[in-house]
Amino acid sequence: MTDPLPVGATIGILGGGQLGRMLSAAAARLGLRCHIFEPGANPPAADVAHALTTASYDDAAALAAFAKSVDVVTFEFENIPTSALDVIEALVPIRPNREALRVSQDRLTEKAFLQELGLTVAPFADITDLDSLSNALERIGAPAILKTRRMGYDGKGQARLKTVDDAPAALADMKGAPAILEGFVDFSHEVSVIAARSSTGEVACFDPGENVHLSGILHTTTVPAKLSNAQRTDAVLLAGRILNALDYVGVLGVELFVTPAGLIVNEIAPRVHNSGHWTQNGCAIDQFEQHIRAVAGWPLGDGTRHSDVVMENLIGDDVNRVSELAREANTALHLYGKADTKPGRKMGHVNRIIRAG
Ligand code: AMP
Repeated sequence: MTDPLPVGATIGILGGGQLGRMLSAAAARLGLRCHIFEPGANPPAADVAHALTTASYDDAAALAAFAKSVDVVTFEFENIPTSALDVIEALVPIRPNREALRVSQDRLTEKAFLQELGLTVAPFADITDLDSLSNALERIGAPAILKTRRMGYDGKGQARLKTVDDAPAALADMKGAPAILEGFVDFSHEVSVIAARSSTGEVACFDPGENVHLSGILHTTTVPAKLSNAQRTDAVLLAGRILNALDYVGVLGVELFVTPAGLIVNEIAPRVHNSGHWTQNGCAIDQFEQHIRAVAGWPLGDGTRHSDVVMENLIGDDVNRVSELAREANTALHLYGKADTKPGRKMGHVNRIIRAG
């Protein structure tokens, strides 16, 4: 696919959560349709999409029918089984490409890739057993964090080691999964850059946002972030380097630790990102539209920040505050339409405009 998709074309999205929902709404604004592929019942994205396939990622026939019904496929999460991607890729392009998925699915591959690019990451080591963990702790030192190489998100699959004595318990927490040890980064704060690259290689980055986590889950993103001009430039340049190295098409989230010695890359996400939700009310073109434009082969839009924004996630019971939040001035409410409230579940978010441009 080299030509821009025409109005009326269909984008397939793997995953029907809130990210798929907001991508689908952005596509609709541009006259494009979305077809959602999601194994679970009542996916939030289906409310605002053109078509829905409810099937498992093992169902080759359903995947093939889905792929044949769309012009390009993208995704809202990175842990898509390789076999499913094989079926789809034989029929239709996948954007961003599979290399971006391969690199970001495994924390060890990801760290090695970032380091090879010349970017700074926390010291790390591949952990397979207690011996490799003891050796790694000797080199890296404590405190440190042990993380599963795959499938970790929102702080899940992680164990903190205050001292080397915590090694056996931390390893037990991994439940036999391959793991990576990371040296503990003494950062002052965390920021992220939401970056986009078009099919013709144009790169555009949103202003970095400052992230605060609670219990491992993103709580707020504030723009502008506390960064010097040099740090801001660094953040944007390093994101561009990652995009170009991956020949990436779409939106990518880059999470960074801010330290006195410079920016350290924590991880990358090959998709729209929770810490980019502020763009919906802080920019004329938000991260969702930017991703759809890129995937559809369109030019990127102008994502200049026009307002200062604080995005706050509504997690679990936070959603019960909706009637009060709905009355707040300069506050945009974004709800995901999820029927069941569960602790830790992302139910929606609000974008508070704290200074309009
Ligand atoms: P992650 O799932 O890798 O994004 O980690 C979740 C959160 O744990 C991060 O946002 C940080 O607050 C913290 N964290 C992760 N890795 C490190 C590290 N190497 N040093 C210090 N804090 C970390």
